[in-house]
This record gives sequence, structure tokens and C-alpha cells, in this order.
Amino acid sequence: MAFALSGHFAVDAVIRHQHAHQLNELTEVVLRRSELAVDFAAASLDELPKRNLASCEPAALQAIRLHVYQRSAIKDVRLVKPDGSVICSAYSETLEFDKGWAGRHDMLPSRDKALSLFRVEQFGGDALGVLRDINDSSALVAIVGINASLFDIMPAELRAHSEVILSLSNGEKLGEFLLDADRPLVRPISFERHSTRLPLDATIRVEHAVLSSWNSEAYWPALAVALGLGTLFGILLARSRRMEGPVADLDRGLAAGEFKPYYQPIFELRAGRITGCEVLARWVRRDGSVVPPMNFIPLAESSGRIQAMTWQILRSALSDLQPMLRTDKTFKLSLNVVPKHLLSAGFVETLRRTVLTARVSARQIVVEVTERDELDDLARAAAVVAELRDHGFRVAIDDVGVGHSGLSRLKGLGADTIKIDKFFVDTITVDASTTTIVEMLVALARDLHMTVVAEGIETEEQLRALVASGVEEGQGYLVAPPLPFAKFSELVECRRAVQSGAAVSDDTALVA
Ligand code: C2E
Ligand code: CA
Ligand code: CA
Repeated sequence: MAFALSGHFAVDAVIRHQHAHQLNELTEVVLRRSELAVDFAAASLDELPKRNLASCEPAALQAIRLHVYQRSAIKDVRLVKPDGSVICSAYSETLEFDKGWAGRHDMLPSRDKALSLFRVEQFGGDALGVLRDINDSSALVAIVGINASLFDIMPAELRAHSEVILSLSNGEKLGEFLLDADRPLVRPISFERHSTRLPLDATIRVEHAVLSSWNSEAYWPALAVALGLGTLFGILLARSRRMEGPVADLDRGLAAGEFKPYYQPIFELRAGRITGCEVLARWVRRDGSVVPPMNFIPLAESSGRIQAMTWQILRSALSDLQPMLRTDKTFKLSLNVVPKHLLSAGFVETLRRTVLTARVSARQIVVEVTERDELDDLARAAAVVAELRDHGFRVAIDDVGVGHSGLSRLKGLGADTIKIDKFFVDTITVDASTTTIVEMLVALARDLHMTVVAEGIETEEQLRALVASGVEEGQGYLVAPPLPFAKFSELVECRRAVQSGAAVSDDTALVA
């Protein structure tokens, strides 16, 4: 009874907490998407002057028009005076759509002062102006369309009862997305996020009544789970004389070599050829149970065990893959390294020695660094990346699009590859905004001479959409989940046999 009672309150609290958590995350997504749109514009403002195109010469304007035409998120590029007034516009006819144009003093600077943002009031909807100074006499402005579909992210159940707002940090609205503009929300609850590097705010407002009924069907199953867990906990508590601490458990696992590499193939989206694999950690316990990384990597990181664990997994992966890596020099092994480890003393040296000892070429090793948590010391990270690349290693930025750094900052890292998070792949076939974002990432990667790998591809449809967006490589359950070595090597052999046997026709070319 005590469990049932406390279960009731706990479940209620958990569901409410989960809602808040989910909506906070969605607000975060709105913010990331708008930051990405600004980064995308900023990359153009960077590139055009380098190509000597920051001028009103007819030839330059024509080249800018082509540049804009290839980037659907950018509506126009204009050359302006230092006070913000327009000198010329790539599409001069768009000037007629303007209702107002901000003076320089009304524009809001980014944290690093490199950009200024302002609202461009136009007939038929507002847009966002992004300004970057070129020299003492001129600046370039990109007009970014704040497309409703970019922010169409609400779950179906909430869509009619919520709105998504993007605004500048001075409160000016850039876009407001709601299903029925004529029906104001009843008693809305707001979730807000402010960008740390750009003067942008994202807000999601949801009607109170919908929020409290949303997912309440989860109540009874969740209560049952709470009760079950309570009982289980009681039994365990009664049974165990001595409860081993989780860190001691990690240490025991490390000493026994229980952290094993699993392998997920990375393949060419068009031809289906396997070009390498990502090494993903699994804790294979004494009783044969396999623990997923999310259940032990965070603890390993916070308890300072991640270094030892990473080396254990890499050594074991190198010994498994050595023959494959030696016979096929184009085959690559990707390894996940947490930022803290990357920045720790002696990382590059230990990596080099480990790979050398296994007699594998550094060119075949890709170090994946996640941008999920902000890399606080970007300058140091860039120095380590440069050192890695000097030794021939490749570097990939993981989880791009959901992380904190923003691509304009990541550019400074000098990596070879960006990995697009599964989050975008999941929605690419249902949601036009994702396609725009993936296209933006591909265009940016191209400008920065980086390759793109998409993660978490589960269907043929997603694969085709990614190919259409210009992505060339990927991984996902469509080809295989992470596999233990024996299974992985079987898969690679089998693919090789098929591909060398059959003349690849267009039909067999698309994976699966
Ligand atoms: P990640 O680096 O983003 O790895 C991709 C994750 O997506 C893997 O989860 C993989 O199994 C999963 N995945 C791949 N394709 C699909 C798909 O089609 N559908 C679905 N639903 N999932 C797919 P996993 O193995 O559970 O790893 C989770 C995370 O744990 C990794 O995310 C990575 O951040 C971390 N991790 C895994 N191994 C290591 C490691 O050795 N070292 C470190 N530092 N982190 C690791
Ligand atoms: Ca990864
Ligand atoms: Ca990832």
C-alpha cells in the first residue's frame, strides 16, 4: 500500500516532469534550427567577399544571384553602408517588398560581435536580416526566410493547442507559428530558451488543459511499473547483504575486460558498399547480458574511467579488425572519444602508439567527437584536432545539428567529416523543414570541404531522401545494427561476394 500511494504521487510527478522536459527539448530544437539558419547565412557572407563578390558590379550581382538561388533558405543578399542603408541588392525587385529596414543602431550584435541581426519587415511576412561588416565602407546582409515549416515540430496531439514563436532578444517577433491564428490559446504555459551566442529567443506555448491530459494514458502502466520496481527493489534489498557501488562495478568490469566493441557498418548510400564501421561500446557482463553504452558511459566519464575504457575498446577493435584494415586500405574504423578525453594530456601520443603497435595506418582511424556538450575550449580542441590530422588521423564531429556549438564555431575545429544526427534522419521523409536543414548541412559541409555521414537510417525512403539532399554516406539498421565482430565480419564478407559477383544494376545499387 505504501508503494502504491507513493507510486501515485511519484508517477504524477514523473509524467509532469517528463512533459516539461520534452517541451523544453522541443524549444531547444526551435532555437538550434534558427541558429543553424543564421550560421548558414553567415557562411555565405564569409564566402562571397572571398570570391570578390561583395560589390554592385553586374557580374558580381549575377554570381550572388546564383549563390542565393542554390540556397533556398536565403532570400536575398544586399550590400549596405556601415549605417545599414542599402547600396544594392542581388534581387533588386525584392526591395519593393520591404515595409521597413532597420538602421544600424537597431541591429543586435552576436556574442562574438561578428554578426548583427535584425527584423526585416516585408509584405507577406517578416524575415531575418544577418549583417556582417566587410570593410570600413560596406557590409553584406543576407535575408533569411523564417519558414513556418522549419518550426513545424509540435507532436500532432498538441499542434492545435500550441504555438511556436521565434523572436529577437529585444522582443521583436520574427515568426509565430500556430494552426489557427484567430483562436487565442487558453491559459497557455510557456517554455523559453535563449541562445547564448546569438540574440535569438525561442518560445513554445501550450494550453494548460491539453498539457495535463497529454499522455495521461501513461498513468496506469507507469503506476504499475512503479509498483513492480518498488517490489523488485524490496526483494533485492532484502537479498543483497553487501551492495556493490556502481563505480566499483565498472572497475571490476574493466579489470575483467568486459567492455567490448560492437561494429556498425558505414556505407555508401548509392552503391551500398561498406566503407568502414563505427565502434560502439557494449558491456558484456559475466552473466552474458549486454548493457548499452548510455547506461555506463556517463558514469565512466564522471568517475574518470572513460580513458581506460576507451583504450580497452580500441585495442580490442584494432585486434579484431587488423586483417581487414591491412587488406583494404580504404576501410575506416571510427571511434567515439568524449571531449574531456580528447583534451586530456597525452591523448594524441597514446592513440598514436596504440595504432602503431597494431600496425594499422593512422589514415584509417576516424576520431568522433560529439558536439552534444559545448566544447568549452574550442581553441584547445582545434589544436588537438590539428595535431591528430598532422599524424594522419581523421576527425568527425558527431551529433551535428542537435549540439551546442553551432557550425560556424565548429568550422574552426578543422574536422574532416560531420555526422548528421538520427534526429534529422527520422523526420526527413515526413517533414520538409528537415530536408531544408539537411540540405543546409550538406551545402555547409561542401563549403568547408567536409564529408557528411547520416546516422540512424532505418528505411529505404529515408535513404532516398538523404541521397536527394546530397548526403553520400550513412549508417543505420537498414543495413545492420551494431554487431559483435563475428557477425560483422560475416556481413562484410557476404557483401563483398555479392558486389564482386553481380554486375551492379541500378536496381540493386540502392542498398538493402
Ligand atoms: P552515437 O555515437 O551517436 O552512436 C550512434 C547510435 O545510434 C548508436 O547507439 C547506434 O546503435 C544507434 N543507431 C545506429 N543506427 C540506428 C538506427 O538505424 N536506428 C536506431 N534506433 N539507432 C541506431 P548506441 O550503440 O546505443 O550508442 C549510443 C551512444 O553512446 C553513442 O551515440 C555514443 O555517443 C555513445 N558511445 C557508444 N560507444 C561509445 C564509446 O566507445 N565511447 C564513447 N565515448 N561513447 C560511446
Ligand atoms: Ca558516434
Ligand atoms: Ca551520433
